[in-house]
Amino acid sequence: MSSLTVPSPRVCQDCDGFPVVAITTGTRLRNGSRATLRVTCNGCHGTGTTPARRPVRLSVSAGASC
Ligand SMILES: [Zn+2]
Repeated sequence: MSSLTVPSPRVCQDCDGFPVVAITTGTRLRNGSRATLRVTCNGCHGTGTTPARRPVRLSVSAGASC
């Protein structure tokens, strides 16, 4: 039996498969638990995988400057 299988088509390269990261702020809530900030990856929007598509290439038109 294989221990590790790779069912996901492509792992998000931005978060490397960890779309949601909990950051401990150190602040204690009243109920005793620690307050954490949950940051969701912008690349995959919390899915952890990227759709089977080529990376979006930004087409920069010549002369487009602020
Ligand atoms: Zn991601």
